[in-house]
Amino acid sequence: MHFPDRRVEFEGECRCGRRGRLHHLSEIGGPLCEACFPESMRRRVARDIRTYRMIPKGWKAAVALSGGKDSGSLLHILQMLSRGRMNFRVAALHVNTELGEYSERSQQVCEELAASLGVELVVARIGEWGVRVQQTGRFPTCSVCGGLRRPIMAILTRRLGADVLVTGHTLDDQLVYALKDLLSGKANPPRPVTPQGPVFTQKAKPLFHLPDRAPAIYARLVGIPVVEQACPLFIPDTHRFKDVFEALESLAPMAKKQLIRSLSRGLRRPPLPDRPWRLCPECGEPTYYNPCPLCRLRGWQTGQGMTAGELGPLSD
Ligand SMILES: [Zn+2]
Ligand SMILES: [Zn+2]
Repeated sequence: MHFPDRRVEFEGECRCGRRGRLHHLSEIGGPLCEACFPESMRRRVARDIRTYRMIPKGWKAAVALSGGKDSGSLLHILQMLSRGRMNFRVAALHVNTELGEYSERSQQVCEELAASLGVELVVARIGEWGVRVQQTGRFPTCSVCGGLRRPIMAILTRRLGADVLVTGHTLDDQLVYALKDLLSGKANPPRPVTPQGPVFTQKAKPLFHLPDRAPAIYARLVGIPVVEQACPLFIPDTHRFKDVFEALESLAPMAKKQLIRSLSRGLRRPPLPDRPWRLCPECGEPTYYNPCPLCRLRGWQTGQGMTAGELGPLSD
C-alpha cells in the first residue's frame, strides 16, 4: 500500500515575513521558519502546562532526562519558561542504565545539557539498586528497563525535593500506548497529568500534544546535545506501531490530534483499586506489593528465593 509522503521541510515565506527553510507539521499547523518554530513550541508547551495545571506556580519540576531529543528539548523549553512569568523551578534527573558506551555517552550528554542551562541534575546508576537491564523471567529487556527506571525516577524525584516528575512523552508515544492497551483489551484514556497517589509521584507530560518530529526539529534548531547512537538493546519491532500513526497522519492531516482528543474524552478510566499500600520491607519505598516491584526484580535477578510464578507485575 502506498502512503503519500509528508513534506515537512521546504523553502518558502513564513507568516512573519522571513524567507528560508520552513517546517510544516500537520499535527500542529505551520509552516514556520527556523526562528518562529522554537518560539511556537514554547508557546504550545506553556499553554498546556497552564491548561492542565502541570506545574503550578512555586512548584519544582524534575525532568527525566535520557540523553535523547525529546527530554533534552523539554528541559530547554521548561528552563526558558521558568525564567519567564511561569514562576516554577526546574531540575533534572538521569538514570544510567549501565549498558556500556551507550549509557556513559547518554549520561555525558545529560550532564553537558544541564550544565549549559544551569540546571541541577541528579544521576543514579541502576547498579546502586543491585539490578541490571536484562531479560528477566517472561519480561523482555525493554519492559525490565522501564520497570526499573520508573521506581528509580520516583525515588530521584523525591531526592530532588521536586513536586512533579516531568517526562518527554510525545503525542506519538501516547497513541502507541493507547493502541497497545486497546489491542490487549484495556481502555485507559491518555492523560497529560497523572495525579499524586499514596504510592505514585505526580507526573506530567508537557509534550502530550506534540508529535515526535517537533522536539527533533527543536533540538536541531536550538543546538541541544543528543546521544547519537541507539540503545544496544533497541528492538525496532517494539516501535512499529508508530508507523501506523504516521500513515494515518499522511492520509488524514490532523488525525493524530483528533484521535488523542477522542480517546482522552471517550474512554472511561477504570476506578482506582482501593488497595492498601505499605512501605516495602526491603527498601522502605511506598508500594502496593510486598516486596515492591523493584525489589522483586532484584530478587529474581540475583536468584534469591524467587520462582517463575512470582515475578510480576513490573509496576505498582
Ligand atoms: Zn517566521
Ligand atoms: Zn522495595
